[in-house]
Amino acid sequence: VRAEIVAVGSELLLGEAVDTNSAWIAARLAEVGVDVYRHVTVGDNPDRLVAVLAESAGRADAVIVTGGLGPTQDDLTREAVARLAGVGLRRDPGLEEYVRGYFTRLGRRMPARNLVQADLPEGARVLEAVGTAAGFALDVDVDGRSVTLYCLPGVPREMEIMFARSVAGDLVARAGLAVTVSRLVRTSGMSESAVAEAAADLVGRLDRLVPVEGRSGPTIAFLATKGETRVRVTAKATSRDEALALVGPVVEELRGLLGTAVSGIDDEGAEHAIARLLVRHCWTLAVAESVSGGHLASRLVRVPGASSWFSGGLVTYTAEAKTGLAGVAPETIERHSPVSEEVAAALASGARERLGADVGVGVVGVAGPASQGGRPVGTLCIAVALPGEAPSARTLTLPGRGREELQEWAATVALDQLRRRLAESR
Ligand code: ATP
Ligand code: MG
Repeated sequence: VRAEIVAVGSELLLGEAVDTNSAWIAARLAEVGVDVYRHVTVGDNPDRLVAVLAESAGRADAVIVTGGLGPTQDDLTREAVARLAGVGLRRDPGLEEYVRGYFTRLGRRMPARNLVQADLPEGARVLEAVGTAAGFALDVDVDGRSVTLYCLPGVPREMEIMFARSVAGDLVARAGLAVTVSRLVRTSGMSESAVAEAAADLVGRLDRLVPVEGRSGPTIAFLATKGETRVRVTAKATSRDEALALVGPVVEELRGLLGTAVSGIDDEGAEHAIARLLVRHCWTLAVAESVSGGHLASRLVRVPGASSWFSGGLVTYTAEAKTGLAGVAPETIERHSPVSEEVAAALASGARERLGADVGVGVVGVAGPASQGGRPVGTLCIAVALPGEAPSARTLTLPGRGREELQEWAATVALDQLRRRLAESR
């Protein structure tokens, strides 16, 4: 089944609202093996709306439309669908009763205008109403093909409920038993292009696979987010197990190709790998962070049971806090500047000592907007202190990023350094 998604609303075109509906629907459709070929956004304009619907219906088997079902003059989806299908609008008695009842239950007078929400293109099936917005589905004939238009409300919560109740099952039945499965191989400390280069041969081989009926993929996509490159492996087959069996070997091959850069699979981030490594070593961890302002500790405590290996974290923002809380010598800060490997190392040792942990991590950096002590925005110094070892520190610079992004990025980079050091240590 090929689907297209049409988001209706001038506010979306103006950038006043973000089209989250299409993203949500696309993710649900991918789960049930419906291929989404296009997302289109169109404003509250009758001619353009009809034109967009006609184009999408000309290409797809199912068109999912959100928005424009309200009672006001700029809610045009009903009329546009009727025009496309060449039918009139007819008041649905059941829906009329529902809309009236909705207002009665609220104890409010119903504006007469709301009754237009009970007007549906002739031949449409009512999708169970949520709130006042009644959705509907209509089969239209396009050049001898039957195309189903599913029209859902714009309000995300109403749309989601209606989609789950009345649309998903319909599409699954039409898509046959196809199931799409995706798995994520997560890497850190490696750029997107380096990851793509390492996987280039594999991608080439997958591209040359001979198509098999009822299957597609596996295919590979690269997704770069703050400090992480994720490789998504997707396959479609007639059952979940069969799709997983297609994806599994590719995930394993990527693990081999990317080696120590792999921080986790699927929902498991670097923090989960760190948790496993610490537990294996029977070590506890403490952190002292400046630039990341608590992000590092916050990422670590996402792992259930973190209290068995995470002692705690210090947010040491000023020089006084670095000295008072983590015991960094004032001379170290003066001599080397607050953003230096020496201060990061002293924070790592200090966190370890003050919190009585086996492993310490120190993070300092320049989040901007201005450079600090001659170090440019984006400089990060990260130190890891393992048991019985002097701290080892590294500096890196991530230019062209905003303050908040750098704060999160600093935590990701620190997790990456820690994970790698723990993995190397025996
Ligand atoms: P209502 O019956 O509430 O008027 P509607 O079907 O007419 O619903 P719209 O008027 O188009 O929908 O939008 C209602 C609300 O939903 C608005 O706040 C709008 O910003 C939001 N919305 C509409 N479309 C989307 C979308 N594609 N993604 C996210 N939000 C959306
Ligand atoms: Mg509306």
